[in-house]
Amino acid sequence: MRLSQYFLPTLKETPAEAQVVSHRLMLRAGMIRQASAGIYNWLPLGYAVLKNIERIVREEQDRVGSQEVLMPTIQSADLWRQSGRYEDYGKEMLRIRDRHDREMLYGPTHEEQITEIFKHGAKSYRDVPQNLYQIQWKFRDEIRPRFGVMRGREFLMKDGYSFDIDYESAMRAYRLMFVTYLRTFARMGLQAIPVEAETGPIGGSTSHEFCVLADTGETEIYCPDDLLKFDVLGSVQNSVEDYGQIFDYVTSQYCRTDDRHEPEEFDRMVPAEKQVQRRGIEVGHIFYFGTKYSEPLDATISTRDGETVPVHMGSYGIGVSRVVGAIIEAFHDDSGIVWPEPVAPFTVGLINVKPSDESCTQAAEDLERRLQEAGVSVLHDDTPESAGAKFAQMDLIGLPWQVIVGPKGVKSGHVELKHRATGERQDVSPDSVVGKLA
Ligand code: ATP
Ligand code: MG
Ligand code: MG
Ligand code: MG
Repeated sequence: MRLSQYFLPTLKETPAEAQVVSHRLMLRAGMIRQASAGIYNWLPLGYAVLKNIERIVREEQDRVGSQEVLMPTIQSADLWRQSGRYEDYGKEMLRIRDRHDREMLYGPTHEEQITEIFKHGAKSYRDVPQNLYQIQWKFRDEIRPRFGVMRGREFLMKDGYSFDIDYESAMRAYRLMFVTYLRTFARMGLQAIPVEAETGPIGGSTSHEFCVLADTGETEIYCPDDLLKFDVLGSVQNSVEDYGQIFDYVTSQYCRTDDRHEPEEFDRMVPAEKQVQRRGIEVGHIFYFGTKYSEPLDATISTRDGETVPVHMGSYGIGVSRVVGAIIEAFHDDSGIVWPEPVAPFTVGLINVKPSDESCTQAAEDLERRLQEAGVSVLHDDTPESAGAKFAQMDLIGLPWQVIVGPKGVKSGHVELKHRATGERQDVSPDSVVGKLA
């Protein structure tokens, strides 16, 4: 992509309305533009990141056999009356009437809708286990939308749902999804900490929130240092068969939010020098809730013995659009964003320092073509801006690698390769740039 043709409305000034660094940088880097309070347009650079996050989410869901569906954003109020949540949900739910005066709503989540789908498609123990997910926009009329896409009113969520014959089987689904979430976030460069969120009537923890540590987080987290260092992708073989072992290790650690924190228990389980107390951003949340929806919505299946039982369910959410902000909270410096490579909108920012110089332009275009042929995504700054402005803008948008093509280097047959995260620079030949980045 040539920058001269790319729609990238970056801002020089810091927008006054943005309170947190991720919101400021997303506006400044031309990733999003507010449409109305808590509702955002995703511009090319922002949407490229969002799609990368979606891709990782999909790959990890597919890996454990979850199947993608797409449910409507607009749902019928009747369905929500059956579960009792139409009244309970309160003002966060956006309620709509259609032209026939039918009550509808913009889905804040989809448990009712998926239960309804499952109920008409599954009859017996042979039809389970089943796991379905979607990536779909939600609307919650948040009382205080803030921090940009991190607490929007309209936001993109991956929401998945599991269906099982009994508690044991449902917990297997839960464990798989728990580790899937750890892997999903790790692949985005994030160390997500799973904190116990709720203890169900059956005992044991039946809900975990996945939090990314950042000072701007809204929850206080207590956990051992070991969890911050735990490398899920590098642990054991990491085939789906190993997920149970990873689950057991991680959930044996003390890891709680302030509302469930017990200082004595923390001291007992974690030596003082390993205790961590930090703020966290909730990027995912998983629940086992048993028959909470299947009973009122009458989603039953027959067992092997011919008995009719309500299906056991779990739900699993990732705030896909919130994750974009959370990644920036975790990865930025004074000059701008520093994207982890797997989610970066482009891998390389190629800067032609002097487009008026023919040999420079030739070298830059040549390198762009070669990188593209090698499958490396490139944003090529071919604009007539000053070198200083180009460097500042490239730092701001945070592409992992910069390749700087200038007249002096071209003469002696080399370009400059800069690593955005470390700031390390080296003079290298165009050949070795392609070799290194491909
Ligand atoms: P929060 O505590 O931040 O209000 P929640 O507990 O209400 O979130 P869940 O119902 O657990 O949210 O939804 C699953 C995920 O959706 C959350 O973990 C979060 O990542 C994301 N999410 C929830 N609300 C928002 C929002 N207003 N804007 C962006 N993402 C959101
Ligand atoms: Mg909420
Ligand atoms: Mg929450
Ligand atoms: Mg939650």
